[in-house]
Amino acid sequence: MGEMEDLRVTECTRCPALVDSRSQIVNGVGPEDADLLFVGEGPGANEDEQGEPFVGRSGSVLDDGLRTVGLARADVRITNCVRCRPPENRDPTTEELEHCRDYLEREIDHLDPEVIVTLGKVPSEHLLDRSVAVTKEAGSLEEVRINGTPQRLLICVHPAATLYDRSQAETFENALQRAADLAGVDDSEGGQTRLDGF
Ligand code: URA
Repeated sequence: MGEMEDLRVTECTRCPALVDSRSQIVNGVGPEDADLLFVGEGPGANEDEQGEPFVGRSGSVLDDGLRTVGLARADVRITNCVRCRPPENRDPTTEELEHCRDYLEREIDHLDPEVIVTLGKVPSEHLLDRSVAVTKEAGSLEEVRINGTPQRLLICVHPAATLYDRSQAETFENALQRAADLAGVDDSEGGQTRLDGF
């Protein structure tokens, strides 16, 4: 578990159904010392194709939200509870979540982030080990022991929820703002840090 520890999973056959449905394993992206770790559910079609988490429509919503609170995608770490696309985008099963758990724990241990932001119900429930009413609880911060180490976890709605229900956009933004505040992001540029020089 040294500095060179590889957080990438390159071979895995623990979940027969996902081995069949995936075209590749989708690992986390972003700095290995990021203050913020975003955790989604699992790859969708775009992610499966491109080999990167949150690159479809949900990814655009996430990128826009990050920019609004003074962050860029490249500043944060983004990963998923399971690394292989489930068939027809169904939720990962409890067994699949368990199979992938140690990869996620290794990533969390290695980063030891300021805050883990769970995007949606599946990652929130998986890491808190309880049922979560995400819309109601979005923006709430909890301490949770992961692999024996206390971590701070911020519940957030899934970016896709803002596409189905516009009223969730504010809930989403507020949670991201809280994450940025907790990570000590200086938003004095009005969220335009990446527009310098344009
Ligand atoms: N939704 C997720 O939960 N994860 C992704 O990587 C993309 C969409």
